[in-house]
Amino acid sequence: MKNQKAIEMTHSYVAQTYARFPIALVRGKGVKVWDANGKQYLDFAAGIAVNGLGHSHPAVVRAIQRQAKSLLHVSNLYHIVPQAELARELCRRSFADRVFFCNSGAEANEAAVKLARRYGSQRQGGKYEIISMVNSFHGRTLATLTATGQEKVRLGFDPLPEGFRQVPFGDVDAVEDAIGEKTAAVLVEPIQGEGGVVIPREGYLKELRQLCDDRGLLLIFDEVQTGMGRTGKLFAYEHFGVEPDIMTLAKALGGGLPVGAMLAKEEVVYSFTPGSHASTFGGNPLVCSVALAVLKTLVRDGVLRNCARMSKVFYQGLESIKQRFELIRDVRGMGLMWGVEIEGDASKIVADCLSEGLLITSAGHNDVLRFLPPLIVTRGDIDKGLAIFAKVLASQ
Ligand SMILES: *Cc1c(COP(=O)(O)O)cnc(C)c1O
Repeated sequence: MKNQKAIEMTHSYVAQTYARFPIALVRGKGVKVWDANGKQYLDFAAGIAVNGLGHSHPAVVRAIQRQAKSLLHVSNLYHIVPQAELARELCRRSFADRVFFCNSGAEANEAAVKLARRYGSQRQGGKYEIISMVNSFHGRTLATLTATGQEKVRLGFDPLPEGFRQVPFGDVDAVEDAIGEKTAAVLVEPIQGEGGVVIPREGYLKELRQLCDDRGLLLIFDEVQTGMGRTGKLFAYEHFGVEPDIMTLAKALGGGLPVGAMLAKEEVVYSFTPGSHASTFGGNPLVCSVALAVLKTLVRDGVLRNCARMSKVFYQGLESIKQRFELIRDVRGMGLMWGVEIEGDASKIVADCLSEGLLITSAGHNDVLRFLPPLIVTRGDIDKGLAIFAKVLASQ
């Protein structure tokens, strides 16, 4: 099937919730993908930070094949070996003591919201309100879109659940002012992803931690986009010298399979008891054995180290492009999560890059070009990708 046929079928039968580019991707290998007409692209979108190990990584393929042959799914009525192993590995490598598994970022945040509320009802005398940030993104369920600091995701979905309010990202005083009698937790992305790759100012997350400690609030980090090596460390919070009480993961966790997780400290997650929360697919044998293979590959095969090294190459490349083009206002990022803020509309540049064989995404108020290459990207890939980017900028 060619691109055109796939486009027609999508338009005829699929709910129109996405504005899609007019290609159908059918194959991938490493940092490259191919569309149905055989055209090759350099994939610096990586399924929006999902394909951390790139496409068809041998460790991922092997784990899928091996697990598919033995056991795909059983319910959480029984113990699941790869789930227990993955939970142990995540706890050993993080601040957390226990993990709840689900299937997406929104569900991981939904679980975090539910845990914070249950903790609030049991341990904080009935608190439930959650303070989150302007321009944040936390998902599309009713609770998580209410936590999300963007009006557009809420349009037409009233009535929304109560107990959420937003304050500007980077402003601890605003959080302090927003704390009320019912405030239970603060929810924040260590680096805002959809908001436009916004890096917090020095000290922000530490001050937030201090404020939460002083006021008896839970601190929740949404690491759905920043987690699993994207910033050069396994979790972004490691850069900032602070630990949350609850953290959420999804995107890159399963190497392309849908899996989400909520990690928490014992004294918090203790509020979840049998029957409090559940998911039929959550933590099933297939996704957990693949996530375990992804985690081991990130740590043992030097992928994290590559990410940190290639981060510098990316930064230098983008900085030198910035010198050449006045429409670039700012270059910012960490690890292999980079944003280029521009004067005007990012959509046309993203579309032109696609025509030239480079996949990137836009973010922020559609004024940020976002680069999220696989963490296995090489210097040669980066040179090629940024050459395409520079050529596209020159043609604007
Ligand atoms: C993508 C994202 C989500 C939502 O994840 P889904 O899997 O699409 O539900 C939540 N939080 C952050 C920070 C994200 O980047």
